[in-house]
Amino acid sequence: MTDATQRTARASRVLYEDADHQFVWLGAGDPAQERGISSNQYLIVDAGEGVLLDPGGYHVFERVFDNTMAHVHPDRIRTLFLSHQDPDICASLVSWLEVKPDVEVVLSRLWERFVAHLALPVTPRMHGLADEGELVTLASGASVVYVPAHFLHSPGNFHVYDQRSRTLFTGDLGASLVPEGDTEPVVTDFAAHVAAMEGFHRRYLPCNRAVTLYLERVRDLAVDRVCPQHGKVMEGDDVGRFFDWLARLDVGLDHKDWGS
Ligand code: FE
Repeated sequence: MTDATQRTARASRVLYEDADHQFVWLGAGDPAQERGISSNQYLIVDAGEGVLLDPGGYHVFERVFDNTMAHVHPDRIRTLFLSHQDPDICASLVSWLEVKPDVEVVLSRLWERFVAHLALPVTPRMHGLADEGELVTLASGASVVYVPAHFLHSPGNFHVYDQRSRTLFTGDLGASLVPEGDTEPVVTDFAAHVAAMEGFHRRYLPCNRAVTLYLERVRDLAVDRVCPQHGKVMEGDDVGRFFDWLARLDVGLDHKDWGS
């Protein structure tokens, strides 16, 4: 690790912890080394078993692997969850399957056959999710729910609700572009933060109806924090503020007439 890397890389932060369950943000790397848009990875550790959420692109593997190992032994990683098919989410699968060839890979059935194009070292043990999603019970008895979030932005798209920590992992939803040098991973001023989210949501989400259907699904969940794959985590009252902001925002075809 270079001096420059040490200045910009950030260590993991445990966002929730009890006797046998953790929800962990896996830090951030040096942008020059990791390349592309910066991305978040999260780890659920339950009774010593790991579920890794959106493991990331090829260049983040080293940092994500090292930070994961600080919380769970490689042999105990049970699942790699992919919210959708984008390369900043699944390109590191090549490296993960080299060190952990028997790991379960969970993603939408829509994308199962496309993952083969990553030239994976082994045929993965794939679990394709049906559109309605799924509830999975972990070793401690805690549950995670693979929540449908189709068309936000991918047509086969899932989020993860960790019931024990009351955490909603939202993939690209809630993504924000944070200025370089801003090293705080959690939103501290929601009103100011909106500007960092707006451009992505207007351009990448297809239409307001997709957002409305999603909000009807998640509004009744008890959510203490929203964890997106890019930018900052939103906690406490900011969760409701985020859902309210999303409900009011015109996106995609409802924002701009692409026919003109
Ligand atoms: Fe994406």
